[in-house]
Amino acid sequence: MVSEADCLFCGIVAGRIPAEVVHETERTLAFRDINPQAPTHVLVIPKEHYPTAAALAAADHGLADDVIEAAHAVAEREGVADSGYRLVFNTGPGAGQTVFHVHGHVLGGRDLTWPPG
Ligand code: 5GP
Repeated sequence: MVSEADCLFCGIVAGRIPAEVVHETERTLAFRDINPQAPTHVLVIPKEHYPTAAALAAADHGLADDVIEAAHAVAEREGVADSGYRLVFNTGPGAGQTVFHVHGHVLGGRDLTWPPG
């Protein structure tokens, strides 16, 4: 597992790594994905480091709630809340997680098919 010192998204929280921030609360940060898969593709994270959604849920339900609320606020701000959006937490390498600081992908602005690949 990546330590906090080496964590890409901790670097964004600390301002060491640039990102286009679209929403911020006391405990969460939302910024555009560098490789967007939809017209709206924003990553929502807790500022505190937890590697996966499972680790976050086990440690701090209140913070998990904050992340989901922030994701919905992003969807509203981006204008995709009414048309529909997808909130995805890839959890573990087998599900395609590549950055081990928990993040929800807010995807919207196009038709989203199911099941995802
Ligand atoms: P995962 O595959 O872990 O679910 O998602 C990681 C996401 O982080 C990917 O969609 C990838 O494009 C995005 N990403 C990787 N590096 C950076 C970066 O340096 N800045 C931003 N904004 N997004 C990144």
